[in-house]
Amino acid sequence: MMHRKPTLSTVPDFLHSFAKRFAAHGYRCLLVGGSIRDAVLGFDVQDFDIATDAHPTDVQGLFRKTIPTGLQHGTVTVLYAGHQIEVTTFRAEAGYSDGRHPDAVEFGVSLEDDLARRDFTINAMALDLHTGAFIDPFNGLEDLQKRLLRTVGSPSERFREDGLRLLRAVRFSARLDFRIDEETRQAMQTARDALRGVSAERVRDELLKSLSARSAAQVVSILDETGLIGHVFYEDDSAQTIRYAASERTRHLDLIPPDLPLVRLAALIALCSEGRGVSEAARIADRLKLSNHDRGVLTTLLETGPVSDSQLQTNRDIRLLLSRCGPGMVQEISCFSAAIRADASGGLSERMERRLREVLAERPPLTVRELAVDGRALMHELNLSPGPVVGVILKELLAFVIDDPNRNSYEQLVDKARTIV
Ligand code: ATP
Ligand code: MG
Repeated sequence: MMHRKPTLSTVPDFLHSFAKRFAAHGYRCLLVGGSIRDAVLGFDVQDFDIATDAHPTDVQGLFRKTIPTGLQHGTVTVLYAGHQIEVTTFRAEAGYSDGRHPDAVEFGVSLEDDLARRDFTINAMALDLHTGAFIDPFNGLEDLQKRLLRTVGSPSERFREDGLRLLRAVRFSARLDFRIDEETRQAMQTARDALRGVSAERVRDELLKSLSARSAAQVVSILDETGLIGHVFYEDDSAQTIRYAASERTRHLDLIPPDLPLVRLAALIALCSEGRGVSEAARIADRLKLSNHDRGVLTTLLETGPVSDSQLQTNRDIRLLLSRCGPGMVQEISCFSAAIRADASGGLSERMERRLREVLAERPPLTVRELAVDGRALMHELNLSPGPVVGVILKELLAFVIDDPNRNSYEQLVDKARTIV
């Protein structure tokens, strides 16, 4: 497909009136970065990046509703016509001594200098919203047409300045299905240590965004080929105990839909860790500083392991599974299983997924909290004092009810509890 030069006619109306506000005060206003790249590619653009020569405090003065998103870096978010527009003052950067944050940010530079500090040629194009001029000093449009990812300037310098760009390269090439230019690719390998300077949170965010690309297998391949994979999964990659690598089996990660990046990660752990998945999931959750929710999903999947239809003969088997992994995890468990056992016996059939949903619709009690008795009632009825034994009894009662949900009445549970104590 031939991608054309962007023009003003493709810009939504609200951006024209937005730009007029700048013109009225003698400032420039250009559409830049990801928004122009995605517009040329024909994607539906929601996040608009604007560059201007107005100082951040001037931008705040132009609009009623602004958020000082990153004032020291020159970024102000403007709430305008129901959109959040990121406005960044032309800037240059100097001296990345920590490989992540520039030591100094300089305003008052030209648009060309501003474009030169950007990471990839396809992210360094601008459309002047007043004159309609298209500014593309690094031939980003040509690279878009060639489906090529290439840094602005010397790749090894750019990666050493900011190690996050290594993972941005992986993400953009996977998301757009672009080839990485040879020189850029080699520099990813030689400068891979620069990833050490990147915080765990940023590594996590980039990894999960990358795994949301169409092909997770491709992400794993690029990470493996460039040697970045060890740096992603280990804070200190010389201490690797499990080797993450692309293989015939990691191709099956793409059986998991792109909108479930965490499940793709769980499957990758399961595929690479050969039986040590549960402890490895906990280690990865620490390494990547996953949220409690995400850590829960990861450990649940690895603890449950792959499931197949043959393991779910009765409704009781199904309730047991749902109780162990939580009712919201049917799709996750199913595609996780399919990726691990990529053959006919793996995963759950559609018929089985439907059956799981039917069992769920009957609303059987699946957690201790849904039992018809609680700890207090038990202590009262059985004359127990508080202690771990109460929890043990409740767990046994849950197993009793999962065997047969009709047993979930106060009387039956208290009677049963008396036989346990
Ligand atoms: P998306 O928002 O889809 O992830 P994007 O290209 O818009 O992609 P942002 O992180 O929103 O990425 O950044 C906007 C622009 O800022 C980029 O297009 C690029 O020009 C520049 N940029 C962002 N991060 C960096 C970086 N680490 N180094 C250099 N330039 C960057
Ligand atoms: Mg963006």
